[in-house]
Amino acid sequence: MKIENPTPLQWRFSQRAQKLQSSAIREILKITMRPEIISFAGGLPSPATFPVEQLKVAFDKILSEQGKVALQYGPTDGYGPLREWVANSLSTNGAKIMANQVMMTSGSQQGLDLLGKVLIDEDSKVLVETPSYLGALQAFSLYGPEFVSVPSDEGGLIPETVATLGQGARMLYALPNFQNPTGRTLSVERRHALVDICARLGLPLIEDDPYGALSYRAEPLPKMLSMNPGGVIYMGSFSKILTPGIRLGYVVAPRPLIEKLEQAKQATDLHTAQLTQMVVYETIKDGFLDQHIPTIRKLYSDQCDAMLDALKTYFPSGTSWTKPEGGMFIWVTLPKHIDSVKLLAEAVEQHVAFVPGGPFYGNTPEQHTLRLSFVTVPPAKIREGIERLGKLIASKI
Ligand code: PMP
Repeated sequence: MKIENPTPLQWRFSQRAQKLQSSAIREILKITMRPEIISFAGGLPSPATFPVEQLKVAFDKILSEQGKVALQYGPTDGYGPLREWVANSLSTNGAKIMANQVMMTSGSQQGLDLLGKVLIDEDSKVLVETPSYLGALQAFSLYGPEFVSVPSDEGGLIPETVATLGQGARMLYALPNFQNPTGRTLSVERRHALVDICARLGLPLIEDDPYGALSYRAEPLPKMLSMNPGGVIYMGSFSKILTPGIRLGYVVAPRPLIEKLEQAKQATDLHTAQLTQMVVYETIKDGFLDQHIPTIRKLYSDQCDAMLDALKTYFPSGTSWTKPEGGMFIWVTLPKHIDSVKLLAEAVEQHVAFVPGGPFYGNTPEQHTLRLSFVTVPPAKIREGIERLGKLIASKI
């Protein structure tokens, strides 16, 4: 049937929807996908690390042996054995985590959105690091918070500043390990101090930790969750240690919050796919990650070294950068007069790309910063790309 003279739709988006913006990074990624560009822009894990064969075997096994369960609706809080696995992997001598404190999510990004939904009102004070993970700023923004930037130095956020800034706030969002975007790590002393200050203020402390297992050199530092399980909301992900395409993450929190998150998740997607949760459990239950994670660490660590060497060789004086001990990112600070958004346009002409730093700030952006990812580019290309970028920056000093 053809409708005569339909009234053109007038899209009246909600005030909430009007706050939504496309991620600056996704827009840039579109340009940098061109094969001639050496891109340090993406935050994608290296596909060379995806355990395709193991997942194939696990999918086949689950569908053959438990197909009817795997393809059915499942519980909102997640697949029991996997929640149990997560709880055990996070339990320490001093702090036992129970499976009913774990909720599986469709990527940890969904956990960030759900936390925003249940904890943030319009104008609620939310403390974030300077800079912080862009995806979290985006997720929280939808609920209209007032972001309060916690001062940071090369050792990450400065805990003492939270004692005053945190008064009356709803939560503090922190990334203690190989932070996105800076690659910085919070020392054990700062972790203890932060947990202590938040506990005294009664301020929920979110510990977002998708990179924690990717420590290159030393044993990973203790999690803030283990220092105070009653006051810390821990977020983990299988994206960086298995594959991001399966969209699987988790939130660990005290029961009253888990119950509220469960209600919010029910409204969002009922539950995370049962099939992928069962396949992931089948893949990891007998210790696969113990041999798999070291191979990811080795690859990333070699490429990180290649980039640090190239930066030392090719970047002019007046620039500085972080020296990560794990994870996927290096953060560069340029002389103040160089705007990294303008620099990107010129860099793309020279077939090299990065992410400008501005969007990673909750409040006042520092436009003379940028993020480099080294995980998807082989060492020879890293040198070539950093050489080109170094020459371009040198021409502006
Ligand atoms: N937190 C941080 C700090 C991240 O860098 C990312 C992914 N880039 C996420 C959360 C979301 O990860 P995922 O949804 O894939 O688990």
